Amino acid sequence: MRGIGIFGGTFNPIHIGHLIVAQEVLSAFKLDKIVFIPTGNPPHKDKEEVAPALDRYEMIRLAISGNSGFEVSDIEIKREGYTYTYDTLINLKNVYNDKMFFITGYDAFKDSITWKNAEKVYKMVSFIVVNRGELNDKLEKEINEIRINFGVDVNALKIPNIGISSTEIRYRVSKEQNIRYMVPDSVLTYIKDNKLYRGE
Ligand code: NAP
Repeated sequence: MRGIGIFGGTFNPIHIGHLIVAQEVLSAFKLDKIVFIPTGNPPHKDKEEVAPALDRYEMIRLAISGNSGFEVSDIEIKREGYTYTYDTLINLKNVYNDKMFFITGYDAFKDSITWKNAEKVYKMVSFIVVNRGELNDKLEKEINEIRINFGVDVNALKIPNIGISSTEIRYRVSKEQNIRYMVPDSVLTYIKDNKLYRGE
């Protein structure tokens, strides 16, 4: 019972890699819960490739149903204009009194220094940096450098290598290839019913 895990991302779409990350973090850090926060209108993403925020939110809602340790928040998808993690954290501080851990992939963490008010973000949360591939000595060294240079509380966690990405899933859907078991069945049905990722 150490706090709340904030799992921000595009989730375009959510897949079992994300769910495994969230469950591993919940268990390893004994957090109260994990809150998935799909991005609204990502400032750094090509709009063509990203499914509507409401669809991405809905797919998360379906994927996490039945897990009492998981929640999804619409805080970013409801916001007008670009969404920045700093603004999200300011809002979340009013909702949760608990310590916040921001869960991110290794690459996003390395880029975090370019985020709006990055140094304030570093003071507001601890980071849990996960790698879906190998967390090798080089990566650990780089994470340590950021920790030391910016005084961030960073925890690295090695996650089983699942080798599934949202990019791969979108590609497969566009080619009418199988994605069963890469996403929960409910998400598969949602993608089909709503004709997402067909590349039309
Ligand atoms: P993203 O698009 O969801 O992820 C980027 C890449 O990292 C994708 O290849 C993704 O794979 C992979 N990834 C996602 N979760 C991972 C994990 N747990 N382990 C390993 N790889 C993972 O995310 P993003 O756009 O980088 O954003 C991440 C968070 O940072 C969001 O909350 C976003 O709002 C925040 N952010 C903030 C700012 C800012 O405030 N200025 C700027 C950039 C990002 P999949 O495609 O398979 O998910």
